[in-house]
Amino acid sequence: MKVLVVGGGGREHALCWKLKRSPSVTEVICAPGNPGIEHDARCIRVGAEDIDGLMALARTERPELVVIGPEAPLVAGLGDRLRDEGFSVYGPDQAAAKLEGSKSFAKELMAEAGVPTARFEVHDDADAAEALIRNWGAPIVVKASGLAAGKGVVVAQSVDEAVAAVRDMLAGNRFGEAGSEVVIEECLVGEEASCLFIVSGDDILPLDSSQDHKALLDGDKGPNTGGMGAYSPAPCVTPDIAEVVLETIARPIVAALKKRRIGFIGTLYAGVMLTADGPKALEFNVRFGDPECQPLMVRLQSDLGRVLLAAAEGRLAGSELEWDARVALCVVVASDGYPGSFIKNQPILGLDAVADAGTVVFHAGTARQDGNIVNAGGRVLGVTALGATVSKAQRIVYAALKRLDWPEGYYRRDIGYRAVARERQ
Ligand code: AMP
Repeated sequence: MKVLVVGGGGREHALCWKLKRSPSVTEVICAPGNPGIEHDARCIRVGAEDIDGLMALARTERPELVVIGPEAPLVAGLGDRLRDEGFSVYGPDQAAAKLEGSKSFAKELMAEAGVPTARFEVHDDADAAEALIRNWGAPIVVKASGLAAGKGVVVAQSVDEAVAAVRDMLAGNRFGEAGSEVVIEECLVGEEASCLFIVSGDDILPLDSSQDHKALLDGDKGPNTGGMGAYSPAPCVTPDIAEVVLETIARPIVAALKKRRIGFIGTLYAGVMLTADGPKALEFNVRFGDPECQPLMVRLQSDLGRVLLAAAEGRLAGSELEWDARVALCVVVASDGYPGSFIKNQPILGLDAVADAGTVVFHAGTARQDGNIVNAGGRVLGVTALGATVSKAQRIVYAALKRLDWPEGYYRRDIGYRAVARERQ
């Protein structure tokens, strides 16, 4: 089978890497891909948001399966357009992608479905929002409703910080149109986990658990990013908890969509807070998480192409997934300055040496210039290793990263620290 993967980040590299190793797959093409993906797929320079360009590419290449990686083309309706022309697509239609594209829609659907989640209100008026914040007090969470690349959430420790964030978002300063509506939420306390599901109609196939680190700095401090590292499985997600998340979060939300006549084919990602009152949904995404996808693909032993095609064709029932029993841990290397501004086109050397030290190096924001790999985005590499324990996987990755020759590259030194602490107990 020939598969087209849409996207060009670390998630898409991990998907292409795994698809290339899937017995059912004979050819992987990726649009636009990146220099790392070139090792696993034929890359074609059509941007992931160039919907017309991607349609033209699909018509020329005639893939038997299209896997849409990022949220933007899903929210823009690429899935609908491809399905209209008869392609098998893994990735939801625009109506279902609203679960990620609009946090206010997601929260309203959660309320309707009875999914446990933080108490919330949606506002587009700054004065009303400020009154609510003063009433609820801090800590309190402020979210831009629209897509903001994982950066539109402020967990405010003071009322002043929350009010400033709301005014900034509603004035359109920080996230443009995505911030024209804000969701204000009660601040939940607990450990976070990512619970991903392959969904096709009523059939929901859970992936193994994972946990990512969204904050920029060690100890989960500093601003939120798209993700600085991840590992799988996450020991905090016991089999019992996984079952609760499936039954109280994933199934009801898919059923609530169906009630609105919205089908779902693709990855449902539930960001979950494990609170003292049980798991509560923080957010939904409609695609694989990045970086979580990287350790998940390294652990997955099943034929990914076969499972995604089955989902795309509505015959997921009965599918099972097999996992490497070991832990996979991924550390993201970012450009210094990310999630703010940073200098591009710095040469990155030593990539082969990092891989030779027992890791898989996935590329995200890289480009090729004058024969060198250079940084071209905020999150640049994801370095993943398998180990018998989180501590062991962590040790392999950090030892390998010593071989990376990119002085300006930044990475956290403590990915997986909660699980490591658990292991020490
Ligand atoms: P989201 O994009 O909605 O998942 O939010 C990004 C991050 O903000 C989450 O991974 C949490 O760390 C944090 N966050 C979001 N909502 C809440 C909440 N209600 N309480 C505490 N932390 C939250």
